[in-house]
Amino acid sequence: MLLALRYLCAFRTNPLTVQKVAQRLSVCGVKPLQESILMQLLPIPAFTDNYIWVLHGTQRALVVDPGEAGGVMDWLKQHGLQLDTILITHHHADHTGGAASLRETTGARVVGPTGEPMPEPLQRVDEGDTVMVLGLPFQVIKVPGHTAGHIAYYCPDVDGKPLLFCGDTLFSGGCGRLFEGTPAQMLNSLDRLSALPDATQVCCTHEYTLANLKFAQAVEPHNTELAAYMAQCQALRTQNFPTLPSSILVEKQINPFLRSRQAAVRQAATVHNPLASNDDVSVFATLRAWKNVFK
Ligand code: ZN
Ligand code: FE
Repeated sequence: MLLALRYLCAFRTNPLTVQKVAQRLSVCGVKPLQESILMQLLPIPAFTDNYIWVLHGTQRALVVDPGEAGGVMDWLKQHGLQLDTILITHHHADHTGGAASLRETTGARVVGPTGEPMPEPLQRVDEGDTVMVLGLPFQVIKVPGHTAGHIAYYCPDVDGKPLLFCGDTLFSGGCGRLFEGTPAQMLNSLDRLSALPDATQVCCTHEYTLANLKFAQAVEPHNTELAAYMAQCQALRTQNFPTLPSSILVEKQINPFLRSRQAAVRQAATVHNPLASNDDVSVFATLRAWKNVFK
């Protein structure tokens, strides 16, 4: 019961899915002894559309891409949790701005990518590294495109489910803009994420879903899974609930940037830009350029 109350408290200040809390509580009712080992995952909103993801057990927490410190500190204090680790995916200020202050205040370890300016000191990690956080192994996947050194963190098993923190590389229904990388690099990065298990929980850093889905529907107006997902996400946003985490399965069904080899998507890209060639990278580049100007 105490743990049940803890869940309710943990989520009271954040609208992350009352449904998920209810699901967890019903699990609790069946197997109360397992409850103490379950990790909690939730997004703390920041700025206008960022999420700072938190994963925590009963005492310690990790946060991902803290663009600001205030909301995270308040949340940690409110829930009596100690910040153990800060994971950073890339160098943009809306992902790093709160890291130094959080480290100074809490003593947390900071982990970030090699080859990008970061709030020093920190542990640098690269493709192929595994970083242990809260007893969980997070694999580092290099995903250049949005920035040159962007990384994602993937844990194959958090309470039975894979978990991905992918920063600004993969969004629900979209992908990051190509500030420092090429379409070929981004396509390859998204291919790697797309190859993760279907059940992988996809934790992106921005709530861009509805705008992305509007574009996705312009590309694939006859995709019925996309239409259903749009309706579901609209209902969530109406209540100010996050649309995230998404899953790799859902993204493969609805995200045009993971579907650029599908016939309907290729055709839409060709109609949009008849002058482009129709190899995989050109189709992807056409989609990304089209999204940049889509309103
Ligand atoms: Zn960014
Ligand atoms: Fe960002």
